[in-house]
Amino acid sequence: MTQDKRDPRSIAAVKGTKDILPDEVGQWQAVEGVVRRIVELYGYRELRAPVIEPTELFEKGTGETSDIVIKEMYTFTDKGGRSITLRPEYTPSVVRAIIEHRLDLKPEPLRYYYVGPMFRYDKPQKGRYRQFHQLDVEVFGEKDAAIDAELVEMADRLLREVGVAETETLINSVGCRACRPGYLRVLREKAEAAEERLCEDCRRKTRTNPLRIFDCKLEGCREAAAGFPVVTDHLCAECSAHFSAFRAGLDAYGLAYRVEPRLVRGIDYYTKTTFEIVASGLGAQSAVLGGGRYDDLMKDYGGPDLCAIGFAMGMERLLAVAGVKPEKTPFVYLAYIGDEAKRAGMETARRLRAQGVECLLEYKDKGLKAQLGRASKLGAAWAVIIGEEEVRKGRFAVKSLADGAQHEAAPDDIVKIIRG
Ligand SMILES: [Zn+2]
Ligand SMILES: [Zn+2]
Repeated sequence: MTQDKRDPRSIAAVKGTKDILPDEVGQWQAVEGVVRRIVELYGYRELRAPVIEPTELFEKGTGETSDIVIKEMYTFTDKGGRSITLRPEYTPSVVRAIIEHRLDLKPEPLRYYYVGPMFRYDKPQKGRYRQFHQLDVEVFGEKDAAIDAELVEMADRLLREVGVAETETLINSVGCRACRPGYLRVLREKAEAAEERLCEDCRRKTRTNPLRIFDCKLEGCREAAAGFPVVTDHLCAECSAHFSAFRAGLDAYGLAYRVEPRLVRGIDYYTKTTFEIVASGLGAQSAVLGGGRYDDLMKDYGGPDLCAIGFAMGMERLLAVAGVKPEKTPFVYLAYIGDEAKRAGMETARRLRAQGVECLLEYKDKGLKAQLGRASKLGAAWAVIIGEEEVRKGRFAVKSLADGAQHEAAPDDIVKIIRG
């Protein structure tokens, strides 16, 4: 066993993870609050699955060609010899929970959401962490393209409500198991013909998953891919009708969108609809949320034959562009001098808190002047000052730190003064 000789005071957060400190948490809570309120308005309910899952859950769900997800999984062996993975995405956990608890037999709609941490073990870089946070939204068992449109409308509303100013909605259809193989054949032929213009990675994709060539950010590959056939020209009648109905739904909502035939999304389980909403102000990697339909996933897991659609939104990205600011609660600082005043202060704070007023007493044995200095430094709205004389009189000094106005009040009347 190696001895860790580091000074315990030098222990830092695990590489690729980061503390969200109290001064940032306010904005997280404000944004999460809006997110929860909006999605619940559409009938989604929170489903909290464990952070750790059996590794095979993700290997099974992402398909053999989704080596990206598998390569980046945060996987370890536990003390019982089981292979455990910190979830890299949420959808497989929801699928597992539905099957495990037979949620499909219950009357409630299969509409779920979750906000929390996801993990991937890749090279940490600026703005990318090994622990990051997502909102995940899932609907199961609703085949109609109207739900696809409603989901995009909900995402759009959500972004507006958190104060994201400018967005663009990109949509596409990636076909289904009936029509995609035919398209992939044509695409592969074109990609093979253009092989000398593609990067090494894309040449490999030509054989494994040519759709992924569209994800390549290299200029040469993008130019070559611009001439490749697009999936929307190869949809079967069912996929084509679904795509038309989806667009008609968006039109009915009056939502602007752009059909982007090269939007294929990174994960192979998508069928029919895919979409992304990009926010200006996020630079090149500007998608703030993305999702689509995965009608075969539940079946592939051995569950009931339920179609599905959902999206995931990066919370770090959302916070970077969100205009919502946390509301600051005005609070009372109780300054006291002497033991009797301390007891009176504690009792007063107890009464004020019972009435929903935030109160702070610091038990640090400081002088009155130092306590009042703390009150203004910390941004208290009011200071309640209790000295020996105030205790004797049963009336405390109540000072507004905004304008310096001072009142005198019995403990029961303090709340009236501070609430105006
Ligand atoms: Zn199809
Ligand atoms: Zn490439």
